[in-house]
Amino acid sequence: MDITRNGIDTASGPGEWFTGDVYIDAVAAPSASSRVSASAVHFTPGARTAWHTHPNGQTIYVLEGVGRCQRRGGPVEEIRPGDRVFFEPGEEHWHGASPTRFMTHIAMLQVDDEGNSATWGDHVTEGEYGAAG
Ligand code: MN
Repeated sequence: MDITRNGIDTASGPGEWFTGDVYIDAVAAPSASSRVSASAVHFTPGARTAWHTHPNGQTIYVLEGVGRCQRRGGPVEEIRPGDRVFFEPGEEHWHGASPTRFMTHIAMLQVDDEGNSATWGDHVTEGEYGAAG
């Protein structure tokens, strides 16, 4: 057992990966014996990831607020607390807050052999983001 006390600073989501203000708290970090990576991600209203994929897929679990997510070619979906979303390995997608609400989710994945968690693409445009109720 190894307890990490609440002393890790919240990180800002980098601008090349996110639109708007996003804050990330580390939950689990990969180590020599574990590929699990988990984060609590806090999206301010209107904030969202860029389009991206995960080598081994990703599960998100919504804790608070109202969010949106979309896979490439699919509709924009509204997600709420208690909703769980699995993105398939290599499935291009984005996730974020709704325009008028914060959204916090836990994000869980397994990194690949090189320790990569995601491959990042274009930002989600206003048109793509707003293309649903
Ligand atoms: Mn993702």
